[in-house]
Amino acid sequence: MKPYAFWVRHINFPLGLALKGHARFYRYYKAAERVQWQSPEAVQQLQWERLKNLLNHAHQHSPYWREVFNERQLTPNHIQSPEDFRKLPLLTKPLLQDRRDEMVCDNVQRDRLIENASGGSTGNPTVFYQDIDRNYRRAMDQIRHDRWTGWNVGERFALLWGANYEFTKYEHWMERVNNALFFRRIPLDAFNLTEDKMRLYLETLKRLRPTVIQAYGQAIALLAEFMDKEKLSIAPFKLKGIISSAEKLYPFQRELVEKVFGCKVFERYGSREVGLISSECDRFEGMHIASDSVYVEFLDENDEPVPAGQPGRIVVTDLWTHVMPFIRYDTGDVGTPLDAYCSCGRGLPLMKEVQGRQADFILLKDGRKIHGEYFTHLFYGIPGVRQFQLIQETHTEFSLNVVKTDELDPEKIQTVLQQMTEFMKDADIQVKLEYVSEIPPPMSGKRRFTISKLV
Ligand SMILES: [Zn+2]
Repeated sequence: MKPYAFWVRHINFPLGLALKGHARFYRYYKAAERVQWQSPEAVQQLQWERLKNLLNHAHQHSPYWREVFNERQLTPNHIQSPEDFRKLPLLTKPLLQDRRDEMVCDNVQRDRLIENASGGSTGNPTVFYQDIDRNYRRAMDQIRHDRWTGWNVGERFALLWGANYEFTKYEHWMERVNNALFFRRIPLDAFNLTEDKMRLYLETLKRLRPTVIQAYGQAIALLAEFMDKEKLSIAPFKLKGIISSAEKLYPFQRELVEKVFGCKVFERYGSREVGLISSECDRFEGMHIASDSVYVEFLDENDEPVPAGQPGRIVVTDLWTHVMPFIRYDTGDVGTPLDAYCSCGRGLPLMKEVQGRQADFILLKDGRKIHGEYFTHLFYGIPGVRQFQLIQETHTEFSLNVVKTDELDPEKIQTVLQQMTEFMKDADIQVKLEYVSEIPPPMSGKRRFTISKLV
C-alpha cells in the first residue's frame, strides 16, 4: 500500500473528523463495518429499532407526520410490525412539494437545515432538507459499500459524474485542500463527453491511478464504447473496480466496460433524496440493501408488498432523516426483493437490479405497459446509433430522437420502427423519427432512453 494512502486512512480521516467535532461519525463508520457481518436477524432488529426511533421523533416533532398519525388514530406505539407500518401513507413527490415546511421538525434550528433538491422528468426540482448528522452517516455507509470493490479509505477515487452542482465545490481552494487531505476524489465531468474530453480523462486516469471509478452508467458506457472504437486503454494501469450508478447500465454495456477496463463493474442503486440504497459486493449475487440505514419496501399496484422474486415499486424510508422525516418515500423505481442471502456472509438483504423509472414504461391505449428496456433491445447491435431517446407524447404519438454516426444504415432504423409498431399492436401509432446532433441530459443528469409523458 502507498504510504500516503495509509496516512490518510489512519491519521487524516479519523483525526480530521475528530477535529471538526465529528468523532461520533468515525465511530458510526466502524460500527457500520461490523453491522454488515451480523446475522440477518440482528440487522433486521437494529433496523426496526432505528425505524421506531424515527417514527417516535416524527410523531413528536414533525407537524405533518403528527397530523398523519392523528388522522389515523395511531401513535408510534401502535406500529409493531411491517404490516402496521404500512398503515402510514406513502410520501410522494407532489406531497413533498406541497407540505414540505410542515414536515420539518419543530426542534430544529433553521440554520441547521441543508437544502437539497432532486430533478425529475417534469423539470420541477423538488426541494427537501437534510442535516449534517444524516449526511455524514450516509456518507459513511457509502464508504462501507465503496470498500466492497477493493478500494479503501485514503486511496484515490475518480468520479465520472454530473458537473453542475456536484463539482463546483472543487473549485474553492479550501475544498481542494480538504480533498487532498481526506477524500482524494478526481472529478471528471460526465456532461458533454466529447472525444477530446474522453482522451483527456484517460490520460488523467493513467497519471493519477485511482483505485476505482464511480460513474453514471451511461457515461462509463459511452467512454467504454469510445475506447473500444479507438483501441484505447489505460494499461498497464488497472482499476480494482467501477461503480455504476444513477442510471441503468445495460448488460451488453456492462460487458464492454468490463472488457475495455479489465475489471469488474459493481452496480449501485440510490437516489438523490435518500442516498445509497443498495449495491453489489464482489460475489455479484444481487445488490445488498443498506438496511441498517434505509427501510425498503417493494409494492404492487395496490401498495401491497410483492413476494420475493417479483418486481415491485421501491418505497424507501431513510432512517437518519431526523430534521425532515422521509417515511415511505415512493421513488417510482421498480426493483425485485430476493429472499436468499449472499454467500459473502453479510447480513444485509439482497435485491435485484432496478428496472428503471416508472416513466420508462410506455403506456398503451388498452392499458398495456411496455418496459423501456424492450426498446433498447431493438437497438442492440446496430452500428452507428450513438444515443437514442423515445418519447411518448400521447397514447399513439411517439418521437424517436437518434444521434447517429456515419456508420448508420438508415434502413436498419426503418426496420426498428417497423418492429416497434408491430410489437405495440396498434395501427394508429405513429413514430416521428428525428436525427439530432445531441440529446442533452436533463438537469438531474440522469439520461433516460424512454420517457412517457403519460405516466
Ligand atoms: Zn455479498
